[in-house]
Amino acid sequence: MKRQQADPTTVVGAGPAGLAATITLARAERPVQLFERHESVGQRFHGDMQGLENWSGDEDVLDRLRSLGIATDFAWRGFDEVTFYDSRLRPAIARTKRPLFYLVRRGPEADTLDSALLRQARDAGAEIRLGAPALVAGPGTIVATGPRKADGIAVGYLFRTDLPDQAHAIVHPTIAPGAYAYLLIWDGRATLATCVFRDLKGWKPALDAAADTFMRLVPGLRLDDARRFGGYGALLGRTRYSDESGRLYAGEAAGLQDAEWGFGMVTAMRSGVLAADSLINGREYAERARHDFDAARAAGLVNRAVWERSPRRLMDGALRFEAGRGDLPGRLQRHWAPSPMKSILARTLLAGFHDRLHDVDRTCHETSCRCLRCACADVPRPEGGLRTVEGRHAALRAGWPAMIGRPRRPGAPGGTTDATTAGANASAIRP
Ligand SMILES: Cc1cc2nc3c(=O)[nH]c(=O)nc-3n(C[C@H](O)[C@H](O)[C@H](O)COP(=O)(O)OP(=O)(O)OC[C@H]3O[C@@H](n4cnc5c(N)ncnc54)[C@H](O)[C@@H]3O)c2cc1C
Repeated sequence: MKRQQADPTTVVGAGPAGLAATITLARAERPVQLFERHESVGQRFHGDMQGLENWSGDEDVLDRLRSLGIATDFAWRGFDEVTFYDSRLRPAIARTKRPLFYLVRRGPEADTLDSALLRQARDAGAEIRLGAPALVAGPGTIVATGPRKADGIAVGYLFRTDLPDQAHAIVHPTIAPGAYAYLLIWDGRATLATCVFRDLKGWKPALDAAADTFMRLVPGLRLDDARRFGGYGALLGRTRYSDESGRLYAGEAAGLQDAEWGFGMVTAMRSGVLAADSLINGREYAERARHDFDAARAAGLVNRAVWERSPRRLMDGALRFEAGRGDLPGRLQRHWAPSPMKSILARTLLAGFHDRLHDVDRTCHETSCRCLRCACADVPRPEGGLRTVEGRHAALRAGWPAMIGRPRRPGAPGGTTDATTAGANASAIRP
């Protein structure tokens, strides 16, 4: 116990995964330090609304979060009515007995999911270091740094409106290539966005089409003073729960994202809690994570392939048929459910999807490597600098942070780290 107190667990990344891990560790009275590179939480987001999907479990998702030890003291709004539009923009209204999803806000503001989790982590006694990017991390660190690559983006507008609360989604090949566009209105605030999961460079015409279409479909919708926002995710990469250096990966950093529609928040928090619980109870995290997440992930990959390859008419028919029936959450749960066949198929599909992520493995796979984003395998050769992986590892152990992170020459602009970064490195480089 004494050793644990002298040697806090490091968590890197204050998104839902990292914060859930931090809360779990701190509540178990484990000393924990959380490093977040931005000055506040939720900087990857902009006050946009996101949905906590309510179909991946039997229990209501808010109850599931509570049973994971996460208080639901953030602002939320359940939606049990959603209007879907097919590729001919024909509406189909889904009314559900339990909310299909709960909207939450993301970003640094007071009532967001991110701020609420931060508050819980602080209240539980965790040491939170904001504005502290970690470039290296040792064994036992929980890495929850979010997506490393982008194969899906969401772009849209945030604005104020007098319209009542409502939710709409359009499934259309040019308005939302490979995905869907959505309009969410809650308490006078609106998020209008399109998700682009194919042909990412075509996002601008897709966004323009989404905005025009929603303005035609929803009487009274105006985008005056709208602010543009955007974000990205890695939907199709491989999962990795631990590495040679003994670090644990959670959330999108572990490759955990819903390949079909991009609903990653619940899994991010579940994986963060599981990683922390594994450290607390001395259990093998990677094995538990594979058990809990891999089959569902495989099902998502198969569903994505089906979604992309289905003829438009079939998709339209399925959307209208499914939306009109009761118990949509229950049927989506079955749609998401893993099966041995999906797990087998996913292996083949993953190889095809892999190319779209342009995911070249640049890690060096040295057990001594401490780079969070491996700079050992493809380092430039600074004049008079280190040429070998071993040499660079020696430099890291000696606490030479200027040599890690972005491959820049020492002395060049941006080639050194500031005090905060060095502090983060110092605490993360522990013999
Ligand atoms: C526009 C958009 C809309 C979305 N909508 C939904 C939705 O409706 N429902 C849903 O479930 N999901 C949605 N998602 C996905 C969801 O937001 C993510 O799956 C979820 O945030 C992943 O959580 P995470 O903790 O793994 O990573 P993140 O939320 O990305 O958090 C990672 C954190 O790590 C920090 N970090 C990174 N590197 C370092 C470093 N070296 N040192 C210190 N800190 C570091 C980052 O700054 C960041 O704060 C959406 C995503 C986007 C982009």
